[in-house]
This record gives sequence, structure tokens and C-alpha cells, in this order.
Amino acid sequence: MSEYRENGASGQKRSYRLTRRSFVAGVGAMGALGVLGSFGLTGCAPSGDKAADGADEGAGESYDAVIVGTGGAGLSAAIAAYDKGLTNIVILEKMAVNGGNTNFSSSGMNASETKFQKEQGIEDSNDLFAQETLDGGHNTGDPELVQFMCDNSAGAIDWLDGLGVKLDNITLTGGMSVKRCHRPTDGSAVGLTLIPGLLAAVEERGIPTKMSCEAKELVKDGDAVTGVKVDLDGKETVIGAKAVILATGGLGANAEMVTKYRPDLEGYVTTNQPGATGDGYTMAEQAGAELVQMEQIQIHPTVEQETSTLIAEGVRGGGAILVNSEGNRFFDEMSTRDKVSAAELEQPGGFAWCVFDQQVYDANTAIAKYEKSGLVQKGGNVAELAEAIEVDPAALQATIDAYNAITTDGAADEFGRTEGCIAFADGNMYAIKVAPGIHHEMGGVKINEKNEALDASGNPIPGLYAAGEVTGGIHGDNRIGGNAVCDIIVFGRNVGEVVADALA
Ligand code: ADP
Repeated sequence: MSEYRENGASGQKRSYRLTRRSFVAGVGAMGALGVLGSFGLTGCAPSGDKAADGADEGAGESYDAVIVGTGGAGLSAAIAAYDKGLTNIVILEKMAVNGGNTNFSSSGMNASETKFQKEQGIEDSNDLFAQETLDGGHNTGDPELVQFMCDNSAGAIDWLDGLGVKLDNITLTGGMSVKRCHRPTDGSAVGLTLIPGLLAAVEERGIPTKMSCEAKELVKDGDAVTGVKVDLDGKETVIGAKAVILATGGLGANAEMVTKYRPDLEGYVTTNQPGATGDGYTMAEQAGAELVQMEQIQIHPTVEQETSTLIAEGVRGGGAILVNSEGNRFFDEMSTRDKVSAAELEQPGGFAWCVFDQQVYDANTAIAKYEKSGLVQKGGNVAELAEAIEVDPAALQATIDAYNAITTDGAADEFGRTEGCIAFADGNMYAIKVAPGIHHEMGGVKINEKNEALDASGNPIPGLYAAGEVTGGIHGDNRIGGNAVCDIIVFGRNVGEVVADALA
């Protein structure tokens, strides 16, 4: 559960709570709170005289660009396109709530050579960021797309700052050697600042958004994509477009599609919102686009299994350790997600306790929310925590003593951890039970640096673009925490500008 903060056009801040479970059920309440605002259930009125009659909304409408999906990628694309002069655009969202999985982005946005890093004396380079991204994906990512993402990451941080989304609290996630994961000033989960900020920018520009409007199929004229067949509140219609930008996110909520590509993931919980059903892959493939690396579905090692809540990587980056049911550490907690998940599954019962002290608790505002949701076990000291989680107190104490020796005496860690090693202080101790969950589709629609969707021969499909999780090849076979937000903002912004230029 996370706090969702909105900066509406009124400039007033409102706080309320958003959970995956409430994502669908809570729409009414969110509307009552004014969250949906002009993004109501049937969306903003389209521009001009189109669809003045709500009953015929969507019928016969035509835009320069139709953007499918209101996650970070789609909203960024719309704002960037509009600011480059492409104002006859519309955003479609199949759910009754905006923001997609981006709402739940917990770590932050990785970026290099940023003004905030420089202000804080953090030395980094775009090349190092690119190298560590490729290394994290075991050199299976597309080097050109990765370099493009990293080279444009600082610009994206500035662009967000200009929109009122300041990400100046910088931390580490697994797989990076310098701090480059940018979070909101208060260290809170990034998605809950990002989406309201982008929505406010969309609202300020008057860009129309159609909610509960599901893109079903791309319409083609010869080779070119010329529109989208949609289901708008149960009614099928075609919306015409000179360009369609797919920003439909991933497939984690579509168990059938997950197991089609990865039969071994049957039965896993998912961190994804219910709208992440992989529609974009199906539509793009039917229109002739190539899908790459679809079997690369990332599982995340710290997912609370009863509620599918993702425990932010910043908790480990801030010093937390993972112990098994015997109270022992078993792996470098700051290693990449694939390796930590695999190690966890080898432990008795296939789970771990994410254990931390009051310092970690205080540095991560999300933890208080986890606690309110009943996910956190607590003890006044190590022995009390051990009792609460039914782990041998002596073993847990020995584990913490050994970890403290690494952090304070420079002793070598038998598991090789070198990042985020911070000694446990005496006092309150906490633990959250975690296991792997389906998190992110790293494969997807093959694109180039112009976000053009490519066919199997590498030729762009006229009129079809894609950005965000629906695209593939950037992260390779393992995504570094914080790189998804960089991907969706850099490429979302890019596709908006590219399409605006192409249609100018
Ligand atoms: P990204 O991180 O790439 O921006 P998100 O998961 O945050 O992806 O957002 C994708 C959005 O696209 C979600 O809000 C999802 O509900 C929406 N979406 C998915 N499929 C469709 C579809 N067929 N029609 C309209 N919206 C869709």
C-alpha cells in the first residue's frame, strides 16, 4: 500500500491511499476525492466539436496522434508531443484509473550526470550507467538503445523538474556502483509523485483522455497504421490517427500470456495492476511488428505474497538484509534481481525475511505504509524479533553480528556484498516476509531510437510507435531497479517529440 499524492491544477496537495486491490474498486472513492478530476470515467471531452454527444463518443473521431495507455510512457509522450506543437492528440486508457503500473514504481528513476548528482558530489557518467545496465542484463540488451536511454537520462530529470516533479533524493539499487536512483525529496516511492505530476501537466495542457476506453486492434491501410479499433464503455468504434503510440505496459496480470512465454512461472503472484494484460504485444504483432525477448519476464525478489506488495529495493539499499527461516543470510542482497530471486527460491520454503533496524525504517517512508498494512513484524531487539518471526534468536543475532563486522571492521562478506552495508543499531528490529513475484516484461515490441515499431526485417511500420514496458530489448535478460522509470520517461518523451516532428 502506498500513499498517492496529487498535485492538481488547483495546486493543492491531497493525500489518500492507493493499493492494487483498490485500483479497480476504489475508483469511485478516488473520483469523489477529485483525483480523476477532468479524467473522469469517460474522460475529458475530446477537442473541437468531436463527440459533443457523449453517447457517440469516439465514433468517427480522428486525431494526429492517438496514445494508448496513461502510464509514465503514455503521459510523457502526450506532454512532449503537445509541447512540440502537436495538439490534436488523445490518450486512451482501458482502466477507470490512470497511471498503470507506474503508480507502483517504488525504487526511483536511474539517471547519470544529473544536476542533482553534481550538487551532491556524486561522480557518475553516462557511459558507466550504460555499461552497468548492459552488465546487469548480461549483455543481452540493445547497446544503442541503452546508450540512448543513458545519454538522455539527465535531460529527462531536468524535464520532469520543469514539470514540477523533483527527484533529488538519490540512492542505490542492486547492480549499480554509484548512487543514481533518483527519488522524490522525501524518499517516498517515485510513482506516487510521478503520475500525479504528469497528470497535472496533461490537465494543464487540456489534452483529452478517454477512460475505460480499451484499444482492441490497430487499423491499417496497406502497410500503414491509420487508427485504433476501441471498446469505449462497451461500444466498438474506430478512432482515426496519423500515428498510434502504444504505451500499454506489460503483461504481468495475464497469467495465460505469462505462461505462454514462461511456463515455469505458473502460479506466481504478480506485482502488476489488473490492466497489465499484454494487449499492446498482441496488437503490435497483428500489425506486423516483431516482438523480441518475450521470455524475459523479470521476477522481483522482495514481494510480500499475501498482498503482492513490492517491498522497495531502497530498503535493501539502505542496509536491510535477507535471512532464511533458519536466521541465516544466504546471498548478496544487492546483487541483481534474477540472482537474488533464484537464491531465495533455494531456501527452505522458498522465502526470506527482509530484516532491518530503525535507521532503515526511518529512511524509507514506504515502510510505515507496509506496517499499517500489517506486513511488518517488529521486536524491541533481535531476540524479540526472532520470536515474532519464529527464527532461532541465537542464529539471527550471530547473522547480524557478522554483518555488522563487515560494515564496521571492513571484514570480507562471504556473500560478496559491498553496497549499502550499514551496521544495525541496537533497538527496534523489523522483518517483512518476502518471496519472488512476477514484476516486469523486459521483452516486447522491437523499436529503434525513434521509437518506431519495427517488423522482422527491421523496417518501421508506418504510423506505429511504441514506448515504455511494451517495448523490448533495452533491459536484456535482467533489468536494474530504477531503470524502468528511466526507460519510460526517456523514451516516452522521445516518442512524443519524434511524432510531433514527423507530423509537422
Ligand atoms: P509504462 O510503464 O510503460 O508507462 P504502465 O503499466 O505504467 O506502463 O501503463 C500502461 C497503461 O496502459 C496502463 O494504465 C494500462 O491500463 C493501459 N492499457 C493497457 N492496455 C490497454 C489497452 N488495450 N487500451 C487502453 N489502455 C491500455
